[in-house]
Amino acid sequence: MEYRYLGNSGLMVSALSLGGWVTYGGQVSPEIAQKCMKTAFDLGINFFDTAEVYAGGQCEIDMGVAIRKFGWARSDLVISTKLFWGGKGRNERGLSRKHIIEGTDASLKRLQLDYVDLLYAHRPDPDTPMEEIVRAFNHVINQGKAFYWGTSEWSAQQITEAHAVAGRLNLIAPLMEQPQYNMFHRDRIEKEYLPLFKNYKMGATIWSPLASGLLSGKYNEGIPSDSRLALQDNAVMKRLRDALDTEDGRVKITKVKKLAHLAKQLDCTTSQLALAWCLKNPNISSVITGASKPSQIEENVKALSIVPLLTEEIMTSLEDILANKPAL
Ligand code: NDP
Repeated sequence: MEYRYLGNSGLMVSALSLGGWVTYGGQVSPEIAQKCMKTAFDLGINFFDTAEVYAGGQCEIDMGVAIRKFGWARSDLVISTKLFWGGKGRNERGLSRKHIIEGTDASLKRLQLDYVDLLYAHRPDPDTPMEEIVRAFNHVINQGKAFYWGTSEWSAQQITEAHAVAGRLNLIAPLMEQPQYNMFHRDRIEKEYLPLFKNYKMGATIWSPLASGLLSGKYNEGIPSDSRLALQDNAVMKRLRDALDTEDGRVKITKVKKLAHLAKQLDCTTSQLALAWCLKNPNISSVITGASKPSQIEENVKALSIVPLLTEEIMTSLEDILANKPAL
């Protein structure tokens, strides 16, 4: 495993990490979640990501059980959770001081932890003043309930505003972002956030590196019954399923088939190629993967050995296939 500094901090996170969205607390049993987390830990993954909203809190519960069960040293783990959608109550969502503080306590209880290492604002909240948000995350950090705070899917402008407020009040600014980044979703990381990487040395822990599995090639000939896109009672998965059956979806599948040929040349799987491509970007601190089976983690971790094979020539071939490089 390779470890990288998380942005402008002394904290080291594994270059590949594991998250629980859709899968843990929902799609698979607690026993499978435990097996996946154990496989990940044994392969050197130290960073595990969850959120208060995943499976209505059950993801944090199942991941917390796994952390306890294996008796891992807390110092060997970097655990993150995210706040924004905590429940149906008027004050159980958003980034008010009240929800940040109450939401943190509720997450820690579900995780059976005294603190999380990283706490994210899962989305921006334009209805709450930035000063209230920055002060609330600082309060939680000062109480020892989180070590660092960050954002998820905030615009560069919103992150810049948080830094300005923190600077003016001499408070801790957000350290890291958690944006989507994969071969089909590039603009934020490759364009919008460039000034943030330069000015703040912002950390980036990216999600859906396989575009929910699309970039593994598993959807090339339809939807396998044991895949997340086959989940019938999940609105996000329905949207992704429907999106496959559009012109844009068909173009993506054609690209994935071409990527498979390139992967073959490199003697790797399409998943490994797609993950290696994310890992090659020097602004990425950690690629947060997902897995419903331990074997996927074993396969995905090998992406690290593919990174050196991504020569200039291969990257040019990749760009020719993707044809979506953001114009700077
Ligand atoms: P991916 O795009 O990597 O998708 C993971 C899924 O793809 C797996 O659950 C599995 O699904 C399938 N898969 C993984 N590896 C393979 C393989 N080698 N071969 C075939 N199929 C494979 O990541 P996620 O979308 O899960 O995102 C990763 C994490 O990022 C989440 O768990 C969460 O922690 C975080 N996240 C954050 C968000 C945010 O708003 N901040 C939003 C979404 C995610 P299956 O087997 O079921 O088909």
